[in-house]
Amino acid sequence: MAGNLLGTLLPDSCPLCFHSLDNFSRIPVCPRCLDSLAAAQSEYACAACHIPLLNGAALNEDGLCLMCSTGASRFDGAYYFGFHEGELRLLIQLFKYRGMASLAGPLSRLLLRALPESGSYDAVVPVPLHWRRRFARGYNQSALLAGELARAMSVPMREALGRVRATPAQSGLTGAVRRRNLRGAFAVRRPADVVGMRLLLVDDVLTTGATLNACAKELKSAGARHITAVTLARADRRPFFRSIQEPATSPHYSYSKGAS
Ligand SMILES: [Zn+2]
Ligand SMILES: [Zn+2]
Repeated sequence: MAGNLLGTLLPDSCPLCFHSLDNFSRIPVCPRCLDSLAAAQSEYACAACHIPLLNGAALNEDGLCLMCSTGASRFDGAYYFGFHEGELRLLIQLFKYRGMASLAGPLSRLLLRALPESGSYDAVVPVPLHWRRRFARGYNQSALLAGELARAMSVPMREALGRVRATPAQSGLTGAVRRRNLRGAFAVRRPADVVGMRLLLVDDVLTTGATLNACAKELKSAGARHITAVTLARADRRPFFRSIQEPATSPHYSYSKGAS
């Protein structure tokens, strides 16, 4: 049994800690594991999109990153709960790929925790899935999250966006290739649903931001007034930037030190 836990819809043990689950709960992960998920911490982050940064050098005087200060980010702000790693990443995989749709409730509470209390929205909009992928999976994970979030915040959920073109899987691709892939992928179904509105755009993971950006672009073109994006997890690129900033050896540095 234990070897096949991740493949079953209703496991009898928690897939994270392997303790046995209460049979009366439809949630396939124990409450202890859900409560112990840690929110992301970053000393430096953009004031709008909250991208975690190694230091403040990439932020302008208003605390904005290059994407946000130049208008390349089409959403007005972005929030996320944790980094896309460890137990949060595993939970998202169970939710998306293992049919554990009932995780939408507990995961949507993480979205709520990620958002500022002062935020107010006219509608919650999920990032759409192409119908073929939705058919294969049985649900759009972002729409399940958006529905739970909308209920908790007492605002309507609007599936305002459609995926008009199937796009190749994005994982492993760079930001520029992702943006090219997504050109023309989304369309607003009924502009009247979004005109003048403050929207909360929901997705499970933010990797480069290309998907949320493409959705926000369409919503803004259709007349949406303000767009806040929220995701469960965000890729933390700081280890990558640290590795290219700190070469293993620095001969010039050791030479000048020795000479002084
Ligand atoms: Zn557990
Ligand atoms: Zn930013």
